[in-house]
Amino acid sequence: MDIASTKEMLLDAKKRKYAIPAFNIHNLETMQGVLEAANELNSPVIIATTPGTVSYAGADYLIAMAKVAARRYNIPIALHLDHCSDIDILKGCIEAGYKSVMIDASLKDYEENIRITKEAVAFAQSYNVTVEAELGLVSGQEEERKVDEKDNVLTDPFMAVDFVEKTKIDSLAVAIGTAHGVYRAEPKLDFERLTKINSVVTIPLVLHGASGVPAKSVIRAIENGICKVNIATELKMPFANAIKEYFQKNPDASDPRYYLVPAKEALKKVAIEKIQICNSVNRG
Ligand SMILES: [Zn+2]
Repeated sequence: MDIASTKEMLLDAKKRKYAIPAFNIHNLETMQGVLEAANELNSPVIIATTPGTVSYAGADYLIAMAKVAARRYNIPIALHLDHCSDIDILKGCIEAGYKSVMIDASLKDYEENIRITKEAVAFAQSYNVTVEAELGLVSGQEEERKVDEKDNVLTDPFMAVDFVEKTKIDSLAVAIGTAHGVYRAEPKLDFERLTKINSVVTIPLVLHGASGVPAKSVIRAIENGICKVNIATELKMPFANAIKEYFQKNPDASDPRYYLVPAKEALKKVAIEKIQICNSVNRG
């Protein structure tokens, strides 16, 4: 198979009320861990890379890895550019071969968010690329994107309708009480708001900051219109912890083919749990 389209994935998820897990990866091993989990559960999967990951590994390298993976595994695998606020980086990734992108101008004011998102959609259309955008402001920290908790702005349902109509995006990231990074207290999701948004917005909805959100809340969010669940922090931590543990036990180790194996397994275990929560098992 070739790299899959997130548009088709998300529309199927919306129709059949499950969610596509979108996992942030950073290198070969994190990608392998995620894909082995998805393959074992026969689940469609989105490989998400932030602009930071693109600058770290190179868009061409990431696309090549995703292409190899799509050939190797018999499940739909998509590659997605996550949280891109720089239109030039976004255009560069599309030119390099990305088929799914998120333009994130949610830090700008409403009119500016619309203008930048429209520019991204216009460019993406000529390449048949799917575009996600965000309205409202998911707080917390994702790489260089920092939003203080007090600046958290939940998505207004009627603004969401206007935003989707004006920008013609394919999917909408909503702010309903989740945050990026690690939660200090259990997050309370605004399900009433989500249900309202889902009743007036027809395109698939996306949940950011799902790491650390209790499974029951994620499941309820999926029942109420969430079609894509983003997981980053919850994969990074077990991966790093397993490496630390390995070096504590084996201080003289130097071979990545050994010390990265338990890290990959730890990440894979979490990915399996998340796929089950998304109810995307056997949807491949
Ligand atoms: Zn996010």
